[in-house]
Amino acid sequence: MAPFRVIIVGGSVSGLALANMLEQYDIDFIVLEKHESIAPQLGAGYAMLPHGARILDQLGCYDALEKLSAPVDTMVGYDENAERATRVSNIGTFLEESLGYKMGFLERQQVVRGLFDNLRNKSKIRNSCGVTRIHLTKEGVQVETNAGVFEGDIVVGADGVHSHVRREMEGLASADGDDSLHDGQKGQHHDPLRNQFSRDTFVDSATDFDCCYSAIFGTSVAPEGLIENQAFKGFKSNRSYLCGSVKNGQFHWIAMFKNDEKTEGAQIPRYTPDDRDRLASRYANDIIQPGVRLGDIYRDAIKVTLVPLEQGVLSRCFYKRIVLLGDSWHKINPITGQGGNTAIAGAAYLTDGLKDLLDRERKPTDASLEKLFGDYRQNRGPISKILSENAHFIQRMEALETPFLRFFQLHVMRYLPLKYVRNKLLTAVNTGSLLKRLPPPSRSGTVPVGVDAQKEPSVLFNYSIVTGIAASITVALLIYFFA
Ligand SMILES: Cc1cc2nc3c(=O)[nH]c(=O)nc-3n(C[C@H](O)[C@H](O)[C@H](O)COP(=O)(O)OP(=O)(O)OC[C@H]3O[C@@H](n4cnc5c(N)ncnc54)[C@H](O)[C@@H]3O)c2cc1C
Repeated sequence: MAPFRVIIVGGSVSGLALANMLEQYDIDFIVLEKHESIAPQLGAGYAMLPHGARILDQLGCYDALEKLSAPVDTMVGYDENAERATRVSNIGTFLEESLGYKMGFLERQQVVRGLFDNLRNKSKIRNSCGVTRIHLTKEGVQVETNAGVFEGDIVVGADGVHSHVRREMEGLASADGDDSLHDGQKGQHHDPLRNQFSRDTFVDSATDFDCCYSAIFGTSVAPEGLIENQAFKGFKSNRSYLCGSVKNGQFHWIAMFKNDEKTEGAQIPRYTPDDRDRLASRYANDIIQPGVRLGDIYRDAIKVTLVPLEQGVLSRCFYKRIVLLGDSWHKINPITGQGGNTAIAGAAYLTDGLKDLLDRERKPTDASLEKLFGDYRQNRGPISKILSENAHFIQRMEALETPFLRFFQLHVMRYLPLKYVRNKLLTAVNTGSLLKRLPPPSRSGTVPVGVDAQKEPSVLFNYSIVTGIAASITVALLIYFFA
């Protein structure tokens, strides 16, 4: 009997993280990547956070990536007049003491390259292999590409936000008359800002991603005067900036702009380099921090790209022997740096479940696989959803979207106790567990891995929390002045 084989579509962060895990668990796989080479340069930075870092460490590629990354110890935020509005100090030290790992910025391409280099058998990666069709056969799957047909037991769609696997999966489900997850949901996108998270509400997730912001991602020659280990943010009306710390005279940055309207699915815009240049020139005079203007860092950019920021977690993440992983299933605004880290944590959960299943059944049935994927959805869906909603809320706050959010971001945030802010951050970067069957990572901290977040994930910021804090401060001031 041929060994159980996983066909991974997409050789980026999700796909190669999964490939590393399967290799180390001795599960057969193949990666089909449409580009001619792994890790094309797209001009984007990547924030390595503890919950992704510890899994990379288990896989054996963290140390090399840590050397490439620019650690962040302090995060400073500036208002529209480039006056300091917020400052969170010693986050790096705090995260390291708590979880064993700091936060650091590096190129997304370096993460992909690091995962590729870490693979023992590179012949399992097939470049220039774009997937065109997927067929479900009696006992497995058949995947057509522009470079031949591949057979396996399951397909994992790690092919990003415009996932072709997702389209094929939806087509197959619909051809079978299975619209169960869509019934009654089309057009009923809930407002993620107002819904308190709960595991039970996960089925209310979207059938399409939506998009409220677009972003220019850049890597630039660092201007004079940037402080080492210090990342900085700029808060402006309907736009915001996130700049990583400096390494080797360069830094990564993201400029996020509110779109004129919210779009969904096929309506989400695509951009040309001319659109990017126009947007950058419109806001060229924005001062992100004293001495750093958007126009300057755009001019000094080594790589730069404009993309829409899709967001959300889709209802369906599997159908029969096809399952989605990473951005093909959940998209998170990059303001919190969670996308890749969450994808890695998801890959770990899926791999552990698959290994357990293969120990029980050498060739699992459709029913066993669907049970496995259902459990994966139930575990990873809610966490991804809360991280996506949090990122959207933080984006709205930092882009000073409403008078209330402006007041909160510019005048209240700075008074929040450091302990409170750090603990919220800690919860967000401690979601997801370790690979159960590999030795534990080389580092650990005072806080147990993922325990709290797994049991009871909590919202970082939403309207209720922000309103509650603002109300408490108002009451305190009234008591102070009038009592
Ligand atoms: C500009 C930018 C900045 C980001 N910054 C951060 C950050 O700081 N921290 C963080 O954690 N995350 C960040 N993210 C998100 C992060 O990059 C993704 O969440 C992460 O890469 C996981 O994506 P993925 O591997 O699922 O999909 P992708 O990275 O989109 O990769 C999909 C892969 O599938 C391939 N593919 C597509 N279609 C096919 C097909 N038909 N056949 C074969 N192959 C196919 C593509 O070529 C690609 O290699 C950022 C994302 C972007 C776009």
